[in-house]
Amino acid sequence: MNKNLVYNKHCPICNSMEVIDKKKIKSKHSEINLLFHLKYCKKCGHKFLSSFPKKSILIVFTRATQNLYLVMKKMKNYKKKILLIKVFLK
Ligand SMILES: [Zn+2]
Repeated sequence: MNKNLVYNKHCPICNSMEVIDKKKIKSKHSEINLLFHLKYCKKCGHKFLSSFPKKSILIVFTRATQNLYLVMKKMKNYKKKILLIKVFLK
């Protein structure tokens, strides 16, 4: 289990423990390939991931995104494209 993830034992919508693992989720990104299960709630029918990011990680990600936005606001268009390529296509 990744230390930045919280495992979902119950449905995030109705809180039922009657959930089943449907299948592992494949990804072309090796870091997350087969890391998550698709889960299904037998009570309400909601489908969700087996794990969610921890709140602390979401806060870090949100701050990083806000900082990136502030930097980009001051940049010219061609420099924004170069920065986006460096950040997201690494
Ligand atoms: Zn449910």
